[in-house]
Amino acid sequence: MTKKLSYQQLKDIDREKIIHPQSVPKQNADEGPSMIYSKGDGIRVTDMDGGTYIDGVSMLWNVNLGHGQSELATAAYEQMNEFAYGSQFYGNSNEPAIRLADKITEYAPGDLDGVFFTSGGSESNDTAFKLSRFYWQLQGFESKKIIISLKRGYHGVTVSAQRATGIEAFREFSGSGDPHIINAKAHLTAAEQGDRTSSDFEKSIRGLIEQEGADNVAAVILEPVQGAGGVHLPPDGYLQAVRNLCDEQNVLMIADEVICGFGRTGKNFAVEHWNVTPDMISFAKGVTSGYFPLGGVIMRAKVKEAIAQYDQMLAHGFTYSGHPTGCAVALKNLEIIEREGIVDHVTEMEKELQKGLHTLQEKHKCMTKSRAIGLLAGFDLMKDPEADQLFENDVKAAETFVKACRERNLILRKFDFEDGMNTVAIAPPLIITKKEIQELIDILDDALTAVH
Ligand code: PLP
Repeated sequence: MTKKLSYQQLKDIDREKIIHPQSVPKQNADEGPSMIYSKGDGIRVTDMDGGTYIDGVSMLWNVNLGHGQSELATAAYEQMNEFAYGSQFYGNSNEPAIRLADKITEYAPGDLDGVFFTSGGSESNDTAFKLSRFYWQLQGFESKKIIISLKRGYHGVTVSAQRATGIEAFREFSGSGDPHIINAKAHLTAAEQGDRTSSDFEKSIRGLIEQEGADNVAAVILEPVQGAGGVHLPPDGYLQAVRNLCDEQNVLMIADEVICGFGRTGKNFAVEHWNVTPDMISFAKGVTSGYFPLGGVIMRAKVKEAIAQYDQMLAHGFTYSGHPTGCAVALKNLEIIEREGIVDHVTEMEKELQKGLHTLQEKHKCMTKSRAIGLLAGFDLMKDPEADQLFENDVKAAETFVKACRERNLILRKFDFEDGMNTVAIAPPLIITKKEIQELIDILDDALTAVH
């Protein structure tokens, strides 16, 4: 029997032994973890010290079916008892992985028709980069290596995915990284539509392709709706313009749907909102609602068929590619999403969330630019939105606000960027009800009143 440890003992061990991901190490070394989660139920999680909180961001935008879904636990249990793990290396396979590939390609738009499995989002993006370069190599275009990503895009933390991330602190941490990755310095710009007179032209995707030469560019990667860069929806026509640009320049388009995929935005994949078919989609998070680490890349028939004809070993793949237990959990997750009509429910709840955010924005002067697509939402905090005035850099407006929400038993996520932008993200589990959305809005209201 494992010895029972008190809350304080656990905190102390954590403080002494663990370096936490995407956290401030010194803060943890000084204070220990801010929460030790012990239980989850629906949209709520419980901290070991007894507090219960609304999980307003589905942990890391991934626990889409909410906490405590016993059907997912049972699916994992049954698969583990039957056959817990087997690799896909050396041409081997397993039934859950086969069924899942079939299901995912059925969901995917257009002629996206093949799947390469990974264990998460970063691995999926690295895979998409490698496969797009390899695709061009197979076509005889050896020099097409450059991947272009966007300002404020977030693609993960493996070296290449992090290099592609357009948030400065992350890019820097990847070191010299992958030399063939370039980040556009202009954000979601109309210049992609061919407007050469735009002041953003040179820093746009189109400008970069022209500067580097299309013969050297393999792919463009973007999130259809940016998440960790501050929840940004693309301007009307933007994704289609990038699709056209990629076709015109013979460059592949990769949609990073690691957050958006499997219902988060009210469609199976966010690109469907704009009727765009990318050449590859990377996915992870929502495919298992976070109950098992799993991800992958879906690719169009032309890419899959080119790779499928390669007659030597494909020198890429993860131990956990196509993990049978992960795939069984994903299959059950997708079955529940279908059975419960979750994607349509998200569209309904979007209206409630939009309405609530709109009311708050009318009421609180500092709250501005609220936006939501499905249950992926955000707003900015500014000192004076009418005068376009940001808070001074040393005023941590979003941080203070998110703390106030925590004190009111709501977990949210804040972003404070180098340019002084303070953004708050909201992405509750997709099973949230109308009544629970109202509860969330009431807490936001109270916290905004208290803080700003
Ligand atoms: N891509 C996007 C859009 C993400 O939001 C994330 C993680 O938040 C990733 C990729 C990286 O995924 P992972 O942390 O599973 O490697």
